[in-house]
Amino acid sequence: MRRRPFLSTSVLDTSTGSTGPSAAGRHLRDGAFGNARNLVCRECGATQELGPFYACQECFGPLEIAYDYPSITRAEIEAGPKNIWRYQALLPVPTDIASSPNMEPGFTRLLKADNLGRALGMKNLWVKDDSGNPTHSFKDRVVAVALSAARELGMTVFACPSTGNLANAVAAAGARAGMKTVVFIPADLERAKVLTSAVYTDSLVAVNGNYDDVNRLASEIAGEEEGWAFVNVNVRPYYAEGSKTLAYEVAEQLGWRLPQQVVVPVASGAQLTKIDKGFTELARLGLVEETPYKVYGAQATGCSPVSAAFKSGHDVVRPVRPDTIAKSLAIGNPADGPYVLDVTRRTGGAVEDVTDEEVRDGIQLLARTEGIFAETAGGVTIATLKKLVETGQLDPDAETVVFNTGDGLKTLDAIADRVGPAATIDPSYAAFTATGLA
Ligand SMILES: *Cc1c(COP(=O)(O)O)cnc(C)c1O
Ligand SMILES: [Zn+2]
Repeated sequence: MRRRPFLSTSVLDTSTGSTGPSAAGRHLRDGAFGNARNLVCRECGATQELGPFYACQECFGPLEIAYDYPSITRAEIEAGPKNIWRYQALLPVPTDIASSPNMEPGFTRLLKADNLGRALGMKNLWVKDDSGNPTHSFKDRVVAVALSAARELGMTVFACPSTGNLANAVAAAGARAGMKTVVFIPADLERAKVLTSAVYTDSLVAVNGNYDDVNRLASEIAGEEEGWAFVNVNVRPYYAEGSKTLAYEVAEQLGWRLPQQVVVPVASGAQLTKIDKGFTELARLGLVEETPYKVYGAQATGCSPVSAAFKSGHDVVRPVRPDTIAKSLAIGNPADGPYVLDVTRRTGGAVEDVTDEEVRDGIQLLARTEGIFAETAGGVTIATLKKLVETGQLDPDAETVVFNTGDGLKTLDAIADRVGPAATIDPSYAAFTATGLA
């Protein structure tokens, strides 16, 4: 069990503590990972060469990417492509990444949400809407970085265990890159997410079990099959870095500054911790002023192991068996759970959870105030925002960014018995006036 807090400084160390050329490093092409320097253990700080590794050789702790940070200007970033590759210098990808076949995710809209803000009694609210990505969730970001790593590491099969959106993103990106792609999902996944994955691949495998079962199976296959890149398992350190682009984009779209509060959905917790890493990097690089921000995590009560740990003051996350309509967040044993606790506590934020009814309310509230149709994960986040305001945990006057990470068209069942026609009428004016809608 982990005890040590996450020391972000070890990751952000800009000195050149090179580990030198290595066996695995020899057949990597020069610049395969851009400015990434090595892998570093998030528990003990031990470093390791860049390669298909995800667990520390010393302590089995999770690895993440450390960089030789470049000096880079706002203007250089602004001159880049209108997708995540404008931040290439801060990602573990080669400088020519934008020109290889990829989905070109990112640079999604950041909308001022004054109607929603009014409804919640908030003064300065924004929605970062990642439903606008190529396969309609934030997963296109992480998958794009994982795909680059898989290619550079010479891996031949692109794979993942998924709660749904990742399956969409991996299947689509694999198709576009011409990679063999195998995708594993829980058999009880929403029909829309099954179809929107299967359309891209003949190798979709439905597993009788929940996500945590599927994840265990993937780890086993990764151990047996040479050259299989499971994006969120054995190339996870690269994959996770893709989420930093959410932080970069929000800061850039706000005019190069950090928001005061962010509310982020939590499944494995990778996205939340990397948004924090992204903000920290921008301040460290002088691209934004170093202003304080609070990070809040959002979970569904039916799968809220991190929220439970936060509320009870524990730093160990006890696994749960998920039971919620927010299937894209239904990870009962979240890999980054302890780090979510570190980030939310360190920044003065919180982790909250909401019931499935509140999730449905959240979907409807966002749709009716801002015209944005979120999937259940977005419903979780909006409902959590509301709860945080109502319970006084979040400052309604501070500038706040809330993340909608997926598209409601993928989870129609969530609202199917709540919304529909106000009336069904014959095509006559009299019938219409009888509805009272005139
Ligand atoms: C995967 C996912 C998340 C959270 O991802 P983690 O990084 O695992 O916490 C949030 N929203 C949606 C829609 C997702 O698909
Ligand atoms: Zn270690």
